[in-house]
Amino acid sequence: MKPLKPLDEALADLLAKAAVLPDIETITTFDADGRVLAQACVSALQVPPNDNSSMDGYAVRCADVAAAGVELPVSQRIAAGTAGAPLRPGTAARIFTGAPVPEGADAILMQEDCEALAAAAVTGDGGLGDWGRVRVNAVPRLGQWVRRAGEDITRGAVVLQAGTRLSPAELGLAASIGLHQLQVSRRPRVALFSTGDELVMPGEVPPEQMRPGAIYNSNRFFLRAMLLRLGCEVTDFGIVPDRRDATIDALRQASSAHDLILTSGGVSVGEEDHIKPAVETLGTLDLWQIAMKPGKPFAYGQIPHADGATHFMGLPGNPVSSFLTFALLVRPFVLRLQGVVNVAPQPVAARADFNWPKADKRREFLRVRHNAAGGLELFSNQSSGVLTSAAWGDGVVDNPAGQTIATGDTVQFIAFSELLS
Ligand code: AMP
Ligand code: MG
Repeated sequence: MKPLKPLDEALADLLAKAAVLPDIETITTFDADGRVLAQACVSALQVPPNDNSSMDGYAVRCADVAAAGVELPVSQRIAAGTAGAPLRPGTAARIFTGAPVPEGADAILMQEDCEALAAAAVTGDGGLGDWGRVRVNAVPRLGQWVRRAGEDITRGAVVLQAGTRLSPAELGLAASIGLHQLQVSRRPRVALFSTGDELVMPGEVPPEQMRPGAIYNSNRFFLRAMLLRLGCEVTDFGIVPDRRDATIDALRQASSAHDLILTSGGVSVGEEDHIKPAVETLGTLDLWQIAMKPGKPFAYGQIPHADGATHFMGLPGNPVSSFLTFALLVRPFVLRLQGVVNVAPQPVAARADFNWPKADKRREFLRVRHNAAGGLELFSNQSSGVLTSAAWGDGVVDNPAGQTIATGDTVQFIAFSELLS
């Protein structure tokens, strides 16, 4: 038997084949959530554009407020969106959050520290005092409540790098430098099919009429959902029967218009497993035994067509194996097709509140979830067919080969948010 292939090696091999899709689309920033930037966003301006107030209150010169209780005439009123004039010495400017700090002012007093005094009668002194007077009940610190021009973004700064996967905060950031459109990678086109004569689609046969040996197709539901979350366009080829000719037909149909063909089931080496001979009829295939649990069988191949080749990936049929090999191998691959640079999930240290006394030869991914005490609890049944474990859990413990776990041990936790989105 071939030696098992380490998961990291399998991932490195796959990423080496994941050439970034060359096509770029221009889309509105509104529509860019989840898409991947094909071009860096460079700021043509500084943000904020000028020094501005972070409080409703009064702009002053600190030199004019040596002690609490000083009274100053209010010489102007500056609302957000207006510019104001240089601050006349010995006066205060009424100012509102986001309004530019007038030239000459060097601090803002929040209105809670001030007392507005009645407007003086028109004084004929050129407007001085038309806005009333203010008593300042606190001594300002130089620069207080002033947001500095450019403190968020300097002009010319690369605000977002090419290869960034956009999420809501990034959309706001792009908008803050005036970008209403963004250049993103094209969505990968993925053909999805399941193999297995035992499979029935939910909705086609009610539970009480399922024939002996039949099971519902569950893999198709989570695989499709995960692909969509990763920005793919999914074509669903349904269930392919366990026959070589049918499998070849489906592959041939799928190969020309897709970047990736993804299947589940049929990658073991039983005589009902037709994926390997079928892909090899049309192209090439490597069948890997990956040193992970659940998981193990995984296939990567290529099917050539008129202008290139379509990637092929075959996942194991057991639902949890399928789920985890997708999360750990297919997910990084389809992200890289879109140009994402950082495709590795981020593990964090966590405390095991369970025992795992039996070490395995393979690296294990144990379904766990956080308890209220901040530790991790283990799902009672870690079998590769028990999909309940994945729905119950909020992530997996990445447990090295040959490792047991005792309550209180520090383990590496990978949240499903790192694997499924
Ligand atoms: P296979 O890899 O085809 O040998 O399948 C391994 C196990 O996974 C068998 O018990 C199959 O019935 C089950 N299985 C395969 N495909 C699916 C699917 N799409 N949904 C649920 N179970 C599946
Ligand atoms: Mg099968």
